Amino acid sequence: MITPVMPTYGRWDVAVDHGAGCYLWAADGRKFLDFTSGIAVTSLGHCHPHVIEALTEQANKLWHSSNLFRIPGQERLAERLVQNSFADTVFFNNSGAEAYLKGFGPAMDGFDHVAWDNLNEMRAAVTEHTAAIIVEPVQGEGGVRAPSPNYLKGLRDVCDEFGLLLIYDEVQCGMGRTGKLFAHEWAGVAPDIMAVAKALGNGIPIGACLATEKAAVGMVAGSHGSTFGGNPLSVAAGNAVLDVMLEPGFFDNVNANAKYLWGALETLVGKYPKLFERVQGSGLLLGIRCVVTAGDVVAKAREKGLLVLAAGDNVLRILPPLVVTKREIDEAVAILDQVAGEWPAQ
Ligand SMILES: *Cc1c(COP(=O)(O)O)cnc(C)c1O
Repeated sequence: MITPVMPTYGRWDVAVDHGAGCYLWAADGRKFLDFTSGIAVTSLGHCHPHVIEALTEQANKLWHSSNLFRIPGQERLAERLVQNSFADTVFFNNSGAEAYLKGFGPAMDGFDHVAWDNLNEMRAAVTEHTAAIIVEPVQGEGGVRAPSPNYLKGLRDVCDEFGLLLIYDEVQCGMGRTGKLFAHEWAGVAPDIMAVAKALGNGIPIGACLATEKAAVGMVAGSHGSTFGGNPLSVAAGNAVLDVMLEPGFFDNVNANAKYLWGALETLVGKYPKLFERVQGSGLLLGIRCVVTAGDVVAKAREKGLLVLAAGDNVLRILPPLVVTKREIDEAVAILDQVAGEWPAQ
């Protein structure tokens, strides 16, 4: 029989109730250490006080006006994204999928897929009909992988040689997840266009398409619109997130914790080679490539109070909030150690 909510997701048996920082409570009272961050969204943790304050203030002022009006908070968020990136201009929408290419013309017609992190294959796929290359600088769903050191530079060269746009999908790896505001900053190779979303609003739906002036040349009045995109409430969340992330020292802390977690996971993998193969990823977008089924590890960890995810290629995906502490990392790793220690003999 059909359920009132369409059965489009395989859902966990956890009815969420409330959250604080790295912890999430179910309606039945169970407490979980949440290393999913709502799939890389609540990067400042649940109910971050500064975001609550900004949202509450805005909620008492104005929620929505339509984009027929100038929205000062939207202008401010755009300015700050421009100041802190390669981009000259920003279009706001509501989600990662929307922050792609709508309005940018021919590239919407179709995409050919080529193997990730394979420059030769990418080069061979370019034809006279190619308009752009889209790539995730660090892969999320596909398997939590950082590319070879010169991959993005190689893509930039291909784009420059053939007059193509280089487009980054930083919906998951952007907004601080890898220890810099945007993941491609590690490689120092700028795109022409970039999609961000997920952690930009820490849970309030907002996405953004960032572009250079040249790439955005077609984005004139009437070319593209969004009812909710960049509304006063969502940009209040976006600005509050940037307030926190742009504080001096924020990323030093993320990188220190990422290094600490990576080290602890390496130790775990070394201890259980029959279960785990290797640690991969970047910053706090981390994965363990599993020998046993990653989804089974996810389920066992959840039974013990740790929420983690699976990703493509049998990877256990670990996405703690960027504000995680060493104590919480220790707690998570201890649970994974316990899960592995109790694993049925192979
Ligand atoms: C989640 C995700 C998307 C889609 O974002 P939505 O907000 O669900 O539309 C696109 N690209 C990447 C890399 C993602 O992780």
